Amino acid sequence: MNRLFFFALVLASLVAATDVVGDTLTKPHHWYRGNTHAHSLWSDGNDFPEMIVDWYQRHGYQFLALSDHNVLHQGERWMSLKAIAKRKRAVGKDAMSKYRQRFSEKWIETREVEGQKEVRLKTLEEYRSHFEKAEEFLILQAEEISAKFADKHLHINALNLETTLPPINDKTSIEQTLRENFLAIRKQEEALGRPILAHLNHPNFRWSVSAEVLAQVLEDRFFEVYNGHPVINHMGDETHPSDEKIWDIANTIRITELGAPPMYGIASDDSHTYHGGDVGPGRGWIMVKAPELSPEALIGAMREGAFYASSGVSLESVDYDAATRTLSIKIQPDGDASFSTQLIGTRQGIDLESSQEDIGVVFEESIGLEVRFQIPEDALYARATITSSRPHPSPSFKNQRQQAWVQPVGWR
Ligand SMILES: [Zn+2]
Ligand SMILES: [Zn+2]
Repeated sequence: MNRLFFFALVLASLVAATDVVGDTLTKPHHWYRGNTHAHSLWSDGNDFPEMIVDWYQRHGYQFLALSDHNVLHQGERWMSLKAIAKRKRAVGKDAMSKYRQRFSEKWIETREVEGQKEVRLKTLEEYRSHFEKAEEFLILQAEEISAKFADKHLHINALNLETTLPPINDKTSIEQTLRENFLAIRKQEEALGRPILAHLNHPNFRWSVSAEVLAQVLEDRFFEVYNGHPVINHMGDETHPSDEKIWDIANTIRITELGAPPMYGIASDDSHTYHGGDVGPGRGWIMVKAPELSPEALIGAMREGAFYASSGVSLESVDYDAATRTLSIKIQPDGDASFSTQLIGTRQGIDLESSQEDIGVVFEESIGLEVRFQIPEDALYARATITSSRPHPSPSFKNQRQQAWVQPVGWR
C-alpha cells in the first residue's frame, strides 16, 4: 500500500477514536503524530530546516520539534556551501540542489565572502508560516541541551522554549548536573508562563545515564524509550540493560523508594541525515491524544500520560479503567501483520539489591488486535509493549520489528 495513503488511513481512523487515558474534558480529542527530536544544518544535521519540516509534513506528521544542539533557529547564520558539502554523512551537493528544487531563488539567500559562496540558514520565525496550519501542522521551538559530566553525555530536549538554554556541565555528580539543567528549563517555563516539556535523551548513548541515575532525577518525567539513532545502544549489552529495562528499573525505584510516579516513554528519530545515510527520519514518533493542536494542549496531554510511543505500530485506542484496573488497547490493523502485546511491570515486595530479573517482568501476553489486561493486584505499575510481526522498514538495530509502547498505569 502506498505509504502516504496508509498514513492518511491510519490518521482518519485514529481521529475517530474517542477513548483517552485520564480524559475528563468534554471537547473531542484527536491523535496527533509528532517527532520531538531532529537535527538540521543549524547544528550537526545535513539539511536545511525547511527541507526537514517539509519531509515531516509530507509524511503524515502533525507536529515537529527541530532540536539542534545548544542552539535555536534564531539570529543571522551563514554557512559556506563548502561546509555543507563536507557535513558528515552529507551528500552536500544534493543538499543544495534539492533545496533549490524545492524553494524559489527568491527564498534562498546566498552571498560571496572572500571567494566563498555562502547561504543563510532561515530562522524559525521566517520558515514557520510556510508550514503551520491550524489543526494540521505545528512546529515546536526546541533545543537539545547537550551537557556533559566528565565523559558522560547528558542530552535533554526542551520543547516550546523561547530563548537558548546553555548546557550546565560538570556539577557535583551526574544527577546534580542533570537536575540543574532540568531546573533551568523549569525556570524559563515559569518566567514565560507557558509549558516547556523536557525529556532525557538516549540514556545508553556511550552508557551515559544509568537507570539508577535516571530514577533519582525527579525533575524529569520523560525519557526516550526508543531513539532512531543507530549508535545509542537501544538494546543494551551483556552488562547494560536495554532502554526498555532502564524504564522498568527507574520506575520501580521511583515507586518503591522515592514515592514518585513512574516516567513516561517517548520514541523519536534523532534524525541527522536526509540524503540517505543511516540516521534518517521516520523511525520513531509519539502519538498524543489532545483536544487541539497547540503546544499547551500537546504538552498538557503528555503530562497526563495521554500519549504512546511508536516505531511503526498504530493504536486506535488506549483506555485504562482505574476502578477495575483494566487496560484495554485496540491496535490498528496493518495488512496481514500479527501483533503480540506484553503487559510488563514489577510486583510489590521487590528486593532492588538482589533481584533485577524480577524488575519489568511479563505479567501476561496477548495476540490480536484487541487486548484487555487486568493489572495484577500486587503490581507496582504495569505498561504494555506491542510488537508487530512486520520488520521495521528502516531499522536502527538488528532484527528490529515495528513496536508501540503504552505508558505505565496502575501505580498508587
Ligand atoms: Zn543527543
Ligand atoms: Zn540529537
